[in-house]
Amino acid sequence: MKHFAMVKPGTRVDLGAIDPDFHEDLSKRDPEVKERLDGARDTMRGLQERLYAEGAQSLLIVLQAMDTGGKDGTIRHVMRGLNPAGVHVASFKVPTPPELAHDFLWRVHQHVPCKGQIGVFNRSHYEDVLVVRVHDLVPEETWRRRYDQINEFEELLAETGTRIIKLFLYISKDEQKERLQARLDNPDKHWKFSVADLKERGRWDDYIAAYEDALTHCSTEAAPWFVIPANRKWYRNMVVAEIIAETLREMDPQFPAVDFDPGQIVIE
Ligand code: ADP
Repeated sequence: MKHFAMVKPGTRVDLGAIDPDFHEDLSKRDPEVKERLDGARDTMRGLQERLYAEGAQSLLIVLQAMDTGGKDGTIRHVMRGLNPAGVHVASFKVPTPPELAHDFLWRVHQHVPCKGQIGVFNRSHYEDVLVVRVHDLVPEETWRRRYDQINEFEELLAETGTRIIKLFLYISKDEQKERLQARLDNPDKHWKFSVADLKERGRWDDYIAAYEDALTHCSTEAAPWFVIPANRKWYRNMVVAEIIAETLREMDPQFPAVDFDPGQIVIE
């Protein structure tokens, strides 16, 4: 079994060959896990400040997952410690009538982070080739054209200063069963349970096929997809934090140069 990896552009994704339970040789309580997570979070914090100060580029993190896949938990755990003023989280639900009256990228484009910001998409324009495809909400020729449209959109963003990483939090069908059951068993989690999720669960294989196509067609140099083994929440959080930290390192934001000599300024 392969472990998590960036989906190499041009390669066909077979999710059956990736283990959602992968966790290296680590266990939750290993000191290494805490060190790696804390280290990545520290890096994120330091580089976020530079990104903000520099004000020249932005980072967009797209999160997709099956129901109960852990998008909310990932945002809560991984983004903790960042300056909230520099983070914009956008959640995409069933489109409203005005959203449906526009092209599918219209509602998404408005939430792309501006320069200096980190944007997080909790679901995204990929829903338009996932749920929309599984439920036949538009004709096949329409959703098929969207892969190219998405690639071009993301290329536009990349060319104009937005770095994009896309993370598929990959859980197994058994793990989803446990998480749904846990929501039923805990009164504080009942609000998270939806009978509609059970219907979607019945379409598991259709969703996997739709994900495989989206990951295959839309992992590009400008905007790569990563498959994150997400059965274990602690492993998922650590890996996501590490990917974000590494991406920010590559972006290498710099504090802007100042046009004064701080040593020469005297404050009375
Ligand atoms: P979440 O599961 O993300 O926490 P919800 O339970 O409100 O939030 O689910 C949002 C729902 O909106 C999902 O079922 C998702 O498939 C649906 N959705 C998102 N985007 C679209 C879209 N473009 N077309 C149809 N349904 C969509």
